[in-house]
Amino acid sequence: MTPIATIEVIPVANPDSNPDDLDGTTETVIVRITDTNGLAGIGECDAPAHVVKAFLEMPTQHLWCRNASEILIGADPVETVALWEKLYEGTIFPGRRGLGIHALSAVDIALHDLAGKQLGVPVYKLLGGARRESLRPYCTIFPGMPHDRSIKELMAIIEGQFETALATGFDAVKMEVLFGDLVSDAELVRHIRAGRAMLGDEITMALDFGYRWKSWADARWVLDRVADCNIYFAEAPLQHDDLAGHARLAATSPIRIGGAEFGATRFEAREWLETGRVHVIQCAIDRAGGFTELRRICELAEFYGADVIPHGWKTGITSACGRHLQAACPRTPLFEYISPVVFDSPLRRDLVSPEPVIENGRMALPEGPGLGIELNEEAVERYRTDR
Ligand code: MG
Repeated sequence: MTPIATIEVIPVANPDSNPDDLDGTTETVIVRITDTNGLAGIGECDAPAHVVKAFLEMPTQHLWCRNASEILIGADPVETVALWEKLYEGTIFPGRRGLGIHALSAVDIALHDLAGKQLGVPVYKLLGGARRESLRPYCTIFPGMPHDRSIKELMAIIEGQFETALATGFDAVKMEVLFGDLVSDAELVRHIRAGRAMLGDEITMALDFGYRWKSWADARWVLDRVADCNIYFAEAPLQHDDLAGHARLAATSPIRIGGAEFGATRFEAREWLETGRVHVIQCAIDRAGGFTELRRICELAEFYGADVIPHGWKTGITSACGRHLQAACPRTPLFEYISPVVFDSPLRRDLVSPEPVIENGRMALPEGPGLGIELNEEAVERYRTDR
């Protein structure tokens, strides 16, 4: 195949973002890998853009601390797994877990996009091919952090977003209940029940608690009281690294417990499965190691009777990745989808196109080579922060 010629690491950000909120779409870092024919693949990762850029552009120090371009230039982009392993070994000194793996995720996604374009096939075919006829995303519903608003105001925004999501074609949603001290646990139960009543019984509904509790027993108290609301899974009830607490909660919870959205690599995913014993692993394609690692995590989850519902709160690059992963991988009943219609974000809306149609809760398999999306160069120039 055609060898890699250049790697660019481009940080972009929405200049009007509110740093006092929790919106993952306010910045991203695009990795663009171009071959000697001028064909390019793109990826992104969910980590601080300028730190990722520094990581991928660091000068080589020794064999375990290498410059990424040195490993990639001249290589065959179709050899995605072999290149993942070379990058992992070549950056293991500062990398291995956390940010180094997030950075590799962007590279891995870009390699898959470029390899697909060189071969003229969608990424899901590189991952082994379609195991399903259509795709099922879920729409994240988030009114933002409370700030000075009342719970009544927040619930009114949630109701509006529910209506927009259903009108857009989704039949699965996740209600973010990051209300903090604005509500007691008893009040939280009432608002979850109100959310279910807004949706009706037919819509698949999940909840994100945003790390609300320190004690698994407190989480259990609320989950017991919404057990009849047909909740598909409960995300992030406990502190991220409290794996023992997750195991205790998952053992008797009436609702599937999800976690590991910050996790990186199959090794960390295994800890969540073996020690945390969660029902749903939420490792992100743009954090945990790209397609190469997520595919391994999906196959690992099969052995533990767990599902993989990847976290994905970034731009349209990550949203496209979710489609290819679900098409090709086992145990992925849903994937997170930040809708640019429901959630107003310039980067999510403008950075790539086209946006797939959602009908009766389903999307068609992706078409076109690679990820099947085009980067909007005008938007990149408008939002890039390295000039
Ligand atoms: Mg999440």
